[in-house]
Amino acid sequence: MDELRRNEYLEAIGIDRWVSRASAAVAPAPVSVPSEPESQAPALWEALRREVASCTRCPLHATRTQGVLGVGPTHCDWLVIGEAPGAEEDKRGEPFVGAAGQLLDAMLRAIGLDRATNVYIANVLKSRPPGNRDPKPEEVAACLPYLVRQIALLRPKIMLAVGRIAAQNLLGTQLPLGKLRGQVHQFGEFNTPVVVTYHPAYLLRTPADKRKAWEDLKFARGVYQRLSQGDV
Ligand code: SF4
Repeated sequence: MDELRRNEYLEAIGIDRWVSRASAAVAPAPVSVPSEPESQAPALWEALRREVASCTRCPLHATRTQGVLGVGPTHCDWLVIGEAPGAEEDKRGEPFVGAAGQLLDAMLRAIGLDRATNVYIANVLKSRPPGNRDPKPEEVAACLPYLVRQIALLRPKIMLAVGRIAAQNLLGTQLPLGKLRGQVHQFGEFNTPVVVTYHPAYLLRTPADKRKAWEDLKFARGVYQRLSQGDV
């Protein structure tokens, strides 16, 4: 990505242009990691989709419009994980739509990622909590196995947890988001690297923290580059 284009993306996010001058080179081409045998993966994804669509494992099924599994290519290195569908996501059946989704897309583009081609986006919870309240621990416990199955199918090289709720539930901690940023965590049986940053909905309410989010994105991109070069 040339600097002019990156500056345009940063302006779309709302970050001062000077920040981009410190940015590094373009993210390398995605490196595919074999997961399930090619022949089985579509059937496993379909089974997952059907199970989430008809899931009644927790009370949220009674108030949701539909379960929201995730969106994106099923062969990609990056997995973005948010909290839960909001009102618009519940209606449209896709995570991160609306203003927060547009900001997330701009943030991803700023590090050379595109939701349509090289990043999969999902949430910890597949059904919307009423009034967008925080998920309850028992709801997360009921729903997390779906995300674990997604990760097993995707085998991402890196995961970006956006927001406190996603980060705390993925990492099994109550530490505040500020203490989780700027380091590489690991998740699950594959020890998938996890980097933590702010939720775009929070950044829309708190634009002063966009610069910190940009630091997180550059950090994540650097981790990915090192992973791709076999240095991590
Ligand atoms: S939140 Fe998860 S566990 Fe609860 S009903 Fe929806 S899909 Fe099922």
